[in-house]
Amino acid sequence: MIYTVPHYYKEFRCIAGDCGDTCCAGWQIMIDDKSLEKYRKASGGLGNRLANSIRWDEKRFRQYAGRCAFLNDDNLCDLYSEGGPGMLCRTCREYPRHTEEFEGCREISLSLSCEEAARIILGCEEPVRFVTKERPGEESYPDFDFFLYTKLAYSRELMIGLLQRRELPVSLRISMVLALAHDLQRRIGRGELFAVDGLLSRYGAPGAPERFAAKLGKYRLDARERGGRMQELFGVFGELEVLKKDWPEYVKGLERLLYADGTAGSARYAGCTGSAEGAGYAASRRAFLEQNQRSLALWAEQLMVYFVFTYYCGAVYDGRAYEKIRFAVAGTLLILEMAQAIWQRNGAVRPLGLEDVVEAAHRYSKEVEHSDDNLRSMERMVGSWDAFRLERLLEVISGICD
Ligand code: SF4
Repeated sequence: MIYTVPHYYKEFRCIAGDCGDTCCAGWQIMIDDKSLEKYRKASGGLGNRLANSIRWDEKRFRQYAGRCAFLNDDNLCDLYSEGGPGMLCRTCREYPRHTEEFEGCREISLSLSCEEAARIILGCEEPVRFVTKERPGEESYPDFDFFLYTKLAYSRELMIGLLQRRELPVSLRISMVLALAHDLQRRIGRGELFAVDGLLSRYGAPGAPERFAAKLGKYRLDARERGGRMQELFGVFGELEVLKKDWPEYVKGLERLLYADGTAGSARYAGCTGSAEGAGYAASRRAFLEQNQRSLALWAEQLMVYFVFTYYCGAVYDGRAYEKIRFAVAGTLLILEMAQAIWQRNGAVRPLGLEDVVEAAHRYSKEVEHSDDNLRSMERMVGSWDAFRLERLLEVISGICD
């Protein structure tokens, strides 16, 4: 079995009681069957507490005021302190590690939903490298489409390589990756996987970015129009299951900070150029870009690499490669837009800091990435909403930071 991890993987250490947003509160912690069995057999004081602290019918820990029954006032886990690491269930043992399984290969990443992991992912200034190691043990996947998987793996390698070409504007890099996924999806749909190699050669050829950049000129929006489009994308949050109770108010607050002057609205989409409409957003956007352009390019790259590495090859199971990339683009755009709101909330006087973008990324990830329902809803929206059509996304990407 080949294991692949990003190079920063081993840097992660849980900061436990010092964590500003513990992972043991705000969402349900599901218990795997093996751990449930262990908990059922536990005796003494800890056994009694386990018996009372688990919703056995729902296979999860009980919560009090939204906090896990074992989370104490110092934000430390009593189950860990009293029973040792061996008493943790699989969710708690593995979090914030995320595993994707393929035949002969396991890919493990850190999740942005953990603040400390987000600090490592977004604080990484060098291009991410992926480290592989072979270990004994195989699992067989009877219906695994290995041919499709190899095409996805090669195309992902090219995508990550493109995303990391820092001599190019980040908007061009992301646009190329989106267009590549779009073109590749067509070949998947037509059953022409044999034609994928030619496509990859075309996108990887010398001069490809320059040729692509020449075509991108028509996909540009002014800041005011872009604000309207971004507010439209913010609409996805209203369609998702709420995981953390304070999320709706939190995200509404960010939306108000960004668009309260009426930037968005149907009239604007119809091409209305109403005098003051959107002026506030446009001015804030310009100031935001002036102050933060360099760091935004870095964070856009790292977010895209994170999403592409984590989700793209999962298309081997559903054939939806393009949706995975649209999901990556949506996540990157929304997190950076949330970061702009946080910058405004902080007075818009100092450049966006790592902690600000960590806040945006971990809040987004906690709501969107940790619910199968939400992941499915996002897939449905990126696959059907007009706002996620190729041309519309290219227009919004063009103003991501340049
Ligand atoms: S969110 Fe991350 S750093 Fe915080 S308690 Fe959980 S694993 Fe530890």
